[in-house]
Order: sequence, then C-alpha cells, then structure tokens
Amino acid sequence: MSVDDEKALLAGIPTGLLIGGEWRDAAGGKRFDVLDPSTGDVLASVADASPEDGIAALDAAVAAQDEWAATAPRKRSEILRGAWQIMQDRKDDLALLMTLEMGKPLAEAAGEVVYGSEFFRWFAEEAVRITGRYGVNPEGSGRTIVSQHPVGPCYFITPWNFPLAMATRKIGPALAAGCTVVVKPAELTPLTTLLTASILEEAGLPAGVLNVVPTTSAGALTEPVLKDPRLRKLSFTGSTPVGKRLLAQAAENVLRTSMELGGNAPFLVFDDADLDAAVTGAMLAKFRNVGEACTAANRFIVHEAVADEFAERLTAEVEAVKVGRGTEEGVQVGPLINAAAVSKADDLVRDAVDRGAEVRLGGGPVDGPGTFYAPTVLDRVSAGSDILRTEIFGPVVSIVRFQDEAEAVRLANDTEYGLVSYVFTQDLARGQRMIERLQTGMMGLNVGVISNASAPFGGVKQSGVGREGGFEGIHEYLSTKYTMTPSPFA
Ligand code: ADP
Repeated sequence: MSVDDEKALLAGIPTGLLIGGEWRDAAGGKRFDVLDPSTGDVLASVADASPEDGIAALDAAVAAQDEWAATAPRKRSEILRGAWQIMQDRKDDLALLMTLEMGKPLAEAAGEVVYGSEFFRWFAEEAVRITGRYGVNPEGSGRTIVSQHPVGPCYFITPWNFPLAMATRKIGPALAAGCTVVVKPAELTPLTTLLTASILEEAGLPAGVLNVVPTTSAGALTEPVLKDPRLRKLSFTGSTPVGKRLLAQAAENVLRTSMELGGNAPFLVFDDADLDAAVTGAMLAKFRNVGEACTAANRFIVHEAVADEFAERLTAEVEAVKVGRGTEEGVQVGPLINAAAVSKADDLVRDAVDRGAEVRLGGGPVDGPGTFYAPTVLDRVSAGSDILRTEIFGPVVSIVRFQDEAEAVRLANDTEYGLVSYVFTQDLARGQRMIERLQTGMMGLNVGVISNASAPFGGVKQSGVGREGGFEGIHEYLSTKYTMTPSPFA
C-alpha cells in the first residue's frame, strides 16, 4: 500500500456530520483530528458535533421513523443487502481505512470487513422473517395475537477497537427491524463509520434513517439525547464503568438497552488438551486485534501437568510475531490505540512482576514513533495481581496454573465479568461440564475465535445485557405486542 493510495482513500472519506441526509459542519464549526496510532500523523479533520447537533440528529431520526417502519421489509432488506455488496466491492478501502485509524494489521482489517459487513447480509435476511403468532386461549373464549413492532428511534455509542463490526452489528438489525438511528462513533476512529454511512446512502437508505455525529464531547452530547422522551433505545459497546453510567441515565426514561461491556476471558487448558490446537487458539484469542478486544483471552489458566510445555510453545510462537505498522507486509501486531493504552498495559505488567510473575518474553513498551507494546508472556502470575482482574487490552499473555477441574472453574469464574471463556479439552464430558459451569455468555470450545454474525454475541454478569447477531439480534430492536380478541364463534 503506497502513501498515495492512503492519501487518495482519505480524500474520499466524508468528514462532516450526517444529519437528515445532509453532510454538514458542526454547529459552531468545531473540528477534531483523527490520528494514525502507528505514526501519530493526522489522517483527517472531522466535524466535532455539539449537544445541539446530537438533538438535531435525533430530530431527523424521529422524523424518519414512521416512514421507515412502514417501508416494506423486502425494501429494507434490499438496501442492507446492497450495502453489503458495496462493502465487498470496496473491501480494500474499508480495510485500509481501519488499519490507518485503528492500527490493526491489514490482513485482520480485511477479516473485519468480511465479519462486519456480514451483519448487513445476515440482517437483510432477517428483515423479511419477522413473525408473530395466533393462539386460542385455554378457555377457548379468546384469540391471542402476538406481533412484533420496531422499538423506535435508537441511539448507538460504539468503541474504537472494531470500527466497522461494532457499528454494523447495531445498525444492521436496527434498520432491518424498521428503527431509525443516531450513531456516535468513537472519537478515535470515526472515519470507518462515516464511510459506512455513505455506503448505506449509496445503497438507497432514505434521509434521516441513519444519522452520524462524531464528537469529542461524548458525555455532553449523550446526556440530552438520553433525556429526550422521543428516544426509545440505547445500545452501547464499551467499558463497564461508562456502561453503568449510561444504564443509570437510561433508567430515567426506562429506555430499552443493549450493553456490550468489558470482559476478562479465561482461557482454560486441561491436561487432556490437544496442545497444538491450544497454542493456535491462544495466539488468536490473545493477539487478534493487538489484544484490543473484549473477547481477548485475559487469563490463561493451565493445568500444572502441561503448563511448562504450553508456556514454552506459546512463547516461541509469540517471539516470532512481527510487530509494526499495520500496512506493512507480514505484520501481526500493530500499535496500541494511544499512549494511555501503553501505560495501562505496562502498569499491569509491572504490578504482576512485582508480585512475582516470571517474564518469559517482552515486558515493556517499544520505543517510538507510534504507541507499540512488546508482545509479552508472563508465567506463574500470582493471585491478587491486577492483571487477573483488569481487561489488559494489549498483547500480554498471563499464565496461572491449576491442579484440578474444580480449581480451574473457581479461578475462571472469579471475576465480575462474564463475556466469553475458552476451553481446550479432548474430553467430551468435561467440555459439556464447562458449558454448564462457566459463567459466561459465550464459549470457544477448542477454538480461539468465537465472533460470527450468525451467533448471539453477549455476556452475563457485568459484561452486559442483550445479544448482537444471530436470530436473537433483531429482537433487541423489536417490541412485542399482544392483542386479545374474542372467539369468532362466541
Ligand atoms: P474505551 O476505554 O474502550 O475507549 P469507553 O467506554 O471509554 O471505552 O468508550 C467507548 C465509547 O463510549 C466511545 O464511543 C466513547 O466516546 C463513549 N463514551 C465515553 N464516555 C462516555 C460518556 N460519559 N457518555 C457517553 N459516551 C461515552
């Protein structure tokens, strides 16, 4: 990829707010810079929405709601399917844009285009399959009709780590269900959402159905939107502390909410595991997306009998990883998103080492330019280390050892989070016991990546509420109405 390719792509990305079908400047004219985390260079200057712009975007979504809900499901479906097709045609542009603004290696960004665009195709297929039921009450005196209706105008807050997929898995089901939307993308990576919005426009999405308001004032813009009685739904993906605050704000108007919050994924390797599969799975579960994923394996919980071999083999794989700018050939680990992310990873590593962890590899930031952290393997991490309680969001493996299954389950569940767990075992009954005992919304059984548009993604405990993707995903945007009628034979 040449510098000219990058410039040509960036020159074609819209940088305004999208409100009511118009690309406009922010009220007050403020703009902010989007940076390349691998160089610190400015990629683009984007309109910085004010709270007033947030309400204008909601006005547009409210104005478009009735007509969009009344639009034939087939038509809604075809717009989504059309957008999916344009994304396939422009897959290289989308991938490069994500690598530039977020830092992930180009090959992974290309993978995210496949995964993220699939939410449009999947929900295009779901849009025409929204059904209800007709029943006879037990007394025989009445008939019950159950029907599904769009929830109404939605507000989405998305994170920076998967700039495409985190937007499409909310926008896809909402549009399929007949809801209109205001999206506030992460201020660190707004460009992919802006390009996605222009792709939906090109696919024929009517004005006002999707509105986009990048801002550096997330809290100030969000508060009046959530207070507005016309809003019906909040969907948020991000950190648990921000999610809790938003849930409290959403309580005021009793909004429907979907919350995809933090994780602290355990990665269990039993003594009967296929170690080849476990090491391959570990590399994916830990180093995909530079470790910046809520699904990233955070705690490797390994049976004492195989721990040395697992740690040695994993360390050898990690040592071979190429670190660099995501656009360079063969790079597997890019920069972290910013300097704060590097300090956070480093603080966690230092705390673990101070408490006795053994550093098998890495263990510190990489000198600039860019915000890189060296791929790191820590072994024999002590109970009580912060790294076992906190989402690392970086390329750091931390290994703890266990003696028996009961201890493994206790360690795995010893967290307030419950997003995903990974289990490596060749014993079928043990695998089934883990499905029943591990307190997570998702599990990778002998596999290191679980995300798929056809599957219900989501957590239990403080990892969130609601599910994105799968048959379940569209129901987050539908409300159930039940109607009683008398028996026609009375
Ligand atoms: P991270 O630490 O991964 O950046 P955050 O939860 O801080 O996670 O950010 C996720 C999203 O939440 C981003 O779009 C960010 O702008 C937004 N956000 C952060 N704070 C607030 C807030 N007080 N109100 C609304 N949105 C917020």
